[in-house]
Amino acid sequence: MSTAARKIRLLMLLRRNGVADTAVLRALETIPREAFVPPTFHDQAYEDTALPIGHGQTISQPLVVGLMTQALELDDRMKVLEIGTGSGYQAAVLSKIVRRVYTVERHRPLLREAEARFQNLRLHNITSRHGDGMRGWPEAAPFERILVTAGGGAEPPADLVAQLAPNGVMVIPLGADRRDLKVVRLRRTHEGLSREELWPVRFVPLLPEVVPEGVPAMDDGAPLRSETA
Ligand code: SAH
Repeated sequence: MSTAARKIRLLMLLRRNGVADTAVLRALETIPREAFVPPTFHDQAYEDTALPIGHGQTISQPLVVGLMTQALELDDRMKVLEIGTGSGYQAAVLSKIVRRVYTVERHRPLLREAEARFQNLRLHNITSRHGDGMRGWPEAAPFERILVTAGGGAEPPADLVAQLAPNGVMVIPLGADRRDLKVVRLRRTHEGLSREELWPVRFVPLLPEVVPEGVPAMDDGAPLRSETA
């Protein structure tokens, strides 16, 4: 099957499973996922699975990317913060929909690879940096939208909540038990932070601090396929 045919098959699967927002579908169609996975997995780039990208991390499952992007309720004037750049795929998808994307990754080698992909694909509205995303990006705050693509903890990191604009939305996998995470949508309203549980998900862990330099490629304990919708 050709890449184009595989891509159409995947987009149909996403539609059947609830991805209906046309801007999201258009972005998923435009961004070449094969450019974000290691060469050995190119033939699986349009399967609906998470794939390993090194350092124990994964590029998210396309359905999870589609549903989480849709859950953000985006428009083209927005500034979005993503935590967990990973391969850069999710940031690339966001960059086709919104005005500007800020993305933070704690593994420097993963960030460098993602930045090279942004350059090659001429995605100039993405700003990225190495750091602990749990602290957010105070210099660029507030953000209309925040997306966390790593999971864990019963409550969202306080710094991220503080950097959410009025009426802002944060989509984040939460759960006291790492094996039982839910994608949660938080909304800053006059009364405070509203909370909607959307659907169960599995994600590689959100971990504090940056990864020290010079440490050999380490596995954070994530299973190879870490996400299911
Ligand atoms: N959005 C990515 C997939 C995310 S995998 C993509 O589209 O490919 C989760 C990523 O979050 C991993 O790369 C992991 O290193 C990163 N991560 C985990 N905790 C973090 C933290 N506190 N700050 C920044 N990045 C973090």
